[in-house]
Amino acid sequence: MSKTDLQYIWHPLTQMKEHEEFAPLKISKGKGIYLYDDEGKKYIDAISSWWVNILGHCNPEINKKIKEQLDLLEHVIFAGLTHEPAEQLAEKLIEITHDKLKKVFFADNGSSAVDAALKLSYQYHQQTGNTQKKKFVFLKDGYHGETIGALSMGGCDLYKKRYRHLLIKGHMAEGPECAACPYELDRKTCDAECFEKMEKLLREHHEECCGVIIEPMVQAAGGMKIYSPAYLKKLRNLCYELNVHLIADEIAVGFGRTGKMFGCDHAAICPDIMTLSKGLSGGYLPISVFLTTSEIYEAFYDDYSSGKTFMHSHSYCGNPLGCAAGIAAINLLQKGKYIETAPLKEEYIYSSAEKLENLPYVNNFRNIGTIAAFDTDPDFYDEKKGRFAWTFFRKALENGAL
Ligand SMILES: *Cc1c(COP(=O)(O)O)cnc(C)c1O
Repeated sequence: MSKTDLQYIWHPLTQMKEHEEFAPLKISKGKGIYLYDDEGKKYIDAISSWWVNILGHCNPEINKKIKEQLDLLEHVIFAGLTHEPAEQLAEKLIEITHDKLKKVFFADNGSSAVDAALKLSYQYHQQTGNTQKKKFVFLKDGYHGETIGALSMGGCDLYKKRYRHLLIKGHMAEGPECAACPYELDRKTCDAECFEKMEKLLREHHEECCGVIIEPMVQAAGGMKIYSPAYLKKLRNLCYELNVHLIADEIAVGFGRTGKMFGCDHAAICPDIMTLSKGLSGGYLPISVFLTTSEIYEAFYDDYSSGKTFMHSHSYCGNPLGCAAGIAAINLLQKGKYIETAPLKEEYIYSSAEKLENLPYVNNFRNIGTIAAFDTDPDFYDEKKGRFAWTFFRKALENGAL
């Protein structure tokens, strides 16, 4: 039990009062898939800090690369200056993403990359003759972060409702509901019939809309909702038709989580803007980017006096240590044949889940790539043991899994 923590620290997404009963677990080291608490007990880190540490803790190759960079340059302003790690990381990102993505813009966390992407899309339309375009479309149960802009694009009441009067207005579309498909179809064989709801909304409102933001293939924080790549294909085509940007937020699903390098790869589509963070640095350091096309880049490229400069920055844009971690992480993904072996992992996870079948609180098991989830009845344990999630979390810890 850590007294200092509770004396001084306010934890994220936490009702601190609950720690009266159960203090935060104090972690003193990590190695590979394991975390060790201050008493030496080890836990499988199954949440990977919300899908951030995708290559394990204290990976020797990422450690080495950061240490080398640390002795050269820890940080430098990124307006007017550049450095080797940023150049190398940007080149790599362009190499592993769709051919039409040509430029990399650095930010420093996921939400800030989403906010930057929204500003970019808005400004693009403002300076290409569509000044009436001021809104965005997002999906129910989507999650894009917690700053005001990113939260405005969210479709989860849990995070959003309390702050609704602070947020920028947009249009929320009903999205895929593959767990209980109203069309009674299967996401593996359907043609994303549910896209009709998005289509109707976009056809109605496109003239005032800059872009649509989505999480490709899996709506992660909003309930690990996996859906058909056909949805992405249809959305891509409609966005082209209506001059609305497709913003693919790959912050959670990027870097192999769905079994392909990026979620968009399942549908072989190219978004107009793609945001990346989380696994980008292998979970070491806060760094994020958006990538975009030449077409968007060129709409900003002009004399300074034109007023077309993209006026956006963060103190830690392109941080060299973060970039160094990113280069090492992508090298590891490539060297380890992470994508090539993904189908095996997916199959293994699927067959292991047989053991869950008879548990009364497990519904709708689903998996893709290295993501696996089930739904549960939130009231299941209510009477005797309290909230299901809280009980489940503590039981898992007792058994060595986070
Ligand atoms: C986590 C997440 C974000 C926000 O990233 P932060 O670094 O937590 O701000 C944005 N979009 C998606 C899809 C995410 O999963």
